[in-house]
Amino acid sequence: MNNLAIGVDFGGTKIACGLVDTKTGRLVGTTKKKTRVLDDSKDVQARLQSTIDELLAETNVDIKDTLGIGIGSAGMIDRKKGVLLLAPNLGVSQIPITEPLSKHYNVPCRLGNDVEVGTLGELEYGAGRQCDSFVCIFVGTGIGSGIVCDGKQYLGATGTAGEIGHTIVVPDGRKCGCGGSGCLETYASRTAVAKEILAGLEKGFDSGISDKIDLSKGIIRSKALAHGVESADELVIHAITKAAQYMGIGLASLINFYNPQRIILGGGLIEAVELYLEVAIKETRLRTLSVPGRHLDIVKAELGDFAGIIGAAMLMKNHKQT
Ligand SMILES: [Zn+2]
Repeated sequence: MNNLAIGVDFGGTKIACGLVDTKTGRLVGTTKKKTRVLDDSKDVQARLQSTIDELLAETNVDIKDTLGIGIGSAGMIDRKKGVLLLAPNLGVSQIPITEPLSKHYNVPCRLGNDVEVGTLGELEYGAGRQCDSFVCIFVGTGIGSGIVCDGKQYLGATGTAGEIGHTIVVPDGRKCGCGGSGCLETYASRTAVAKEILAGLEKGFDSGISDKIDLSKGIIRSKALAHGVESADELVIHAITKAAQYMGIGLASLINFYNPQRIILGGGLIEAVELYLEVAIKETRLRTLSVPGRHLDIVKAELGDFAGIIGAAMLMKNHKQT
């Protein structure tokens, strides 16, 4: 039996799929398809299968010679049943994932959430190698985190550990998608940056970013923000600095509480906008207690766009071991 496994990164905008050597973390081949709002479980299965079939054809590998298929999905999942419970971005709920795939290909399949597999990828082959205790924080439209304790991922009593995005940083602050208010996610995510920029534009601030933001939805791409920083756009710099300072407040609390060896920051906003990372690290250092702060590294995630695929494939490596 070789060490190859298929990793699937099932996100709000794309399905990316790769063949991974689980012994080295090397990517043998990848395929990608855009996702759209999907109607039912047949739609989801058909798209997953066509992406996997394309990968198998391109790499000329028989799926029976692999360890199976690991899937990392955005949204809420039931790991044991392999069911996607709710993915608001995809417009789907209660979709069985692993059982139909396993039946169709006759190989084992496992489902994890996107943050969990991203953390697993960094643990095995990224910035978390040879580190026993760390937290990975992914900053994009939302904020999620994965916790590693004693060299293993910690998922919590109900499998929901790591929801740093919903720690409260402003009492009675902005309303959050979770039903609460003042959550870190509403102040430090890319969505929060977009909101701050929109508020500035409404007040009459002049900014070149105004034609790059979807005013009705408050959506902005990380690359447009990076461009704003490069061109010294004051409104963009203000919004990013404010969001990153809130991230530093959240991280300092996390470090004081958990005392990890390392913090790993990843996700679209971190990858694209260096200023966010710099300000977040500075603010964290200012606010963390001296002893846990002194013995701590804060680094960037290493696997970038491929963290989801590699981490999802690692679900099968660990499956083999257990
Ligand atoms: Zn929340």
